[in-house]
Amino acid sequence: MRDFTILSMKYTKSIGTRDILPEEAVIWEYALSVLREASSLYGYGEIRTPAFENAEVFIHSVGDTSDIVTKEMYLFQDKSERQLVLKPEGTASIVRAYVENHYHVKPKPVKLYYIDTFHRYERPQKGRYREFHQYGAELFGSQEPSSDAELIELCIFILKKLGFQHLVLDLNSIGCKICRPPFREKLIAFLRSKVQQLCKDCSERIEKNPLRVLDCKNPICQAAIVGAPCMEEHLCEDCKAHYSELQKYLDHLQISYRKNPLLVRGLDYYQRTVFEVLSSDLGSQSALLGGGRYDELVESMGGPATPAIGFAMGLERLIMLLQQLPDPLPLQSLHPHCFIAIESSQQLTLALQIASLLRQNRYRTEIDLEAKGIKKGLEIAIKKNASFALMLGSQEISLDQVTIKDLAQRTQESIPLKELLPYLNQRGGTIE
Ligand code: AMP
Repeated sequence: MRDFTILSMKYTKSIGTRDILPEEAVIWEYALSVLREASSLYGYGEIRTPAFENAEVFIHSVGDTSDIVTKEMYLFQDKSERQLVLKPEGTASIVRAYVENHYHVKPKPVKLYYIDTFHRYERPQKGRYREFHQYGAELFGSQEPSSDAELIELCIFILKKLGFQHLVLDLNSIGCKICRPPFREKLIAFLRSKVQQLCKDCSERIEKNPLRVLDCKNPICQAAIVGAPCMEEHLCEDCKAHYSELQKYLDHLQISYRKNPLLVRGLDYYQRTVFEVLSSDLGSQSALLGGGRYDELVESMGGPATPAIGFAMGLERLIMLLQQLPDPLPLQSLHPHCFIAIESSQQLTLALQIASLLRQNRYRTEIDLEAKGIKKGLEIAIKKNASFALMLGSQEISLDQVTIKDLAQRTQESIPLKELLPYLNQRGGTIE
């Protein structure tokens, strides 16, 4: 038995995690409702996978040279010495579930979405955490560029619905197993000639993961790669046609895009289309989501050959940016419609009964459960920003009445108890 003796009495959250409190949770609820509705409109069903997976699921798919696998996985051994990981991303476990649950027999395309919690051992900084959330969507069973276009349109649809107006779509094709290897060799040769000018991480990446050097954010590396070979010029005929058809579909959907030859994305399983959507609604550009095509992953994880494409959107950043948009968000209110103040504990039973009736009629109602008296109860009602304070004292009860105070209008009247509901309905105790 481990010794769990408490050494310190100070309890703090673990580094890189955060608490989401009710004031922020209502923004999450709003965003999630938009995400769920959009997913359903585009034909995506929700999938929920376990919080931890066997380590091979990620090592095999995400790639044993990616930062996620080499540096960031929360890897642990359970009591039976199994190697497990807290999921660092969504796609690999969804592919695992797709194969394991024989979803390949379903009519194609199969469309799945998730809203999930992930863990990466990253250096915590603004907007980047060790525990974070993503919404993502995956489309299985079509390699047609029309599916890339439809998936990208879903991204834009969601972000516009949420109120983002100035969106930038960055697009690239990173080729396939036919055209990427010769390009990779050329790139390695180029990068070797620049090794002195690259950051430490990139100089180590040259041989193992040279494409990653292209999207290193370090300005020193960005300067060093000027003149590097460009993937688009090395695409095979099929990849070239795929990329150009995707662009045509986007043009027809009036989705503007920026071809970005340096966009490669960090994960090994991508091929052909990769993309990111950025918002410039708040001045500088912030990436909201990223995705790409992964036509070989399902087969490499034991399923039949199944082309696929997906994306993931970081929800912490989304919520942070949503809060800064100029227009107010349509959020569920946290304030009670009614707060019942009582003279003494003698009115508690009646207060509980009235509150129950009001809640059944969709009025958010709270009670001074500690029976602190009418004056204190009123003060609490005001602090809680209630619309109405209902006051119940011995006098009201003897007359079968309740005194109701409209806290915004500062008006007050006594009415028969049985009139309470019609009164609220008529006074526009509006239900948001
Ligand atoms: P990725 O899974 O790395 O392609 O990232 C997709 C999105 O998830 C990014 O655009 C980020 O917004 C978000 N994201 C990735 N890592 C983190 C993290 N450690 N903390 C918060 N958000 C993250």
